[in-house]
Amino acid sequence: MRSVGIDPLTTDAILISHCHPDHYLDAEILIEAMTEGGTRKQGVLAGSLSVIEGNGDFGPAISNFHLSKPKVVKIMEPFSKMSLKPLEITATPSAHSDTSSVGFRILTTGGMVSYVSDTQLVEQVIKAHRHCRLLIASVTRPLGNRIPHHLSTEDAGYLIEKTKPELAVITHFGMRVIQENPETQAKWIEERSGVKTVAARDFMMLDLGKDDITVSDRIRQVPDK
Ligand SMILES: [Zn+2]
Repeated sequence: MRSVGIDPLTTDAILISHCHPDHYLDAEILIEAMTEGGTRKQGVLAGSLSVIEGNGDFGPAISNFHLSKPKVVKIMEPFSKMSLKPLEITATPSAHSDTSSVGFRILTTGGMVSYVSDTQLVEQVIKAHRHCRLLIASVTRPLGNRIPHHLSTEDAGYLIEKTKPELAVITHFGMRVIQENPETQAKWIEERSGVKTVAARDFMMLDLGKDDITVSDRIRQVPDK
């Protein structure tokens, strides 16, 4: 956040899809920032049941101390809705090892952004992410290397072909994806689906313009002190 000049104290809301540490580990630190070190009861924390209360072997991910700090704490189940003006958030279903995992649909003034978190590719996930401008998918494994409970490049290709967003971004790469080159995976998906697909990179910025979505690199806005 510092590298791109975003002040963590300006955080309004934190959305957490599920209770695996690669998805929740910074949450308590961000809650501290959002509530100005716990001195102001403000902001929204929304997360899966596992993150907020615990679900079976998973969670909770947030201490009672940190749960007491935001103004609103909300458990998101598939199709739960939340208004964060001007955004409207809807949770989507996932089929993951943390069974309470969700994804998110974020309706912005620039159109619908769909975030697909860790999940196996199942029909209800595909259905939930139709009709969006931008689809962001967590792709953990490259071509020919599928593992349970996560999307591989083939899965993402099928998902993107069926949901037909204006632009797809793949992210959350496992080591095998890094070794096989994320750009190569994105190109394969683009050829299969006919949808422009880019591999996320650090500091990538996406701008939902009226006519198209532009991809650029965020320039540092705050000079070093
Ligand atoms: Zn996970």
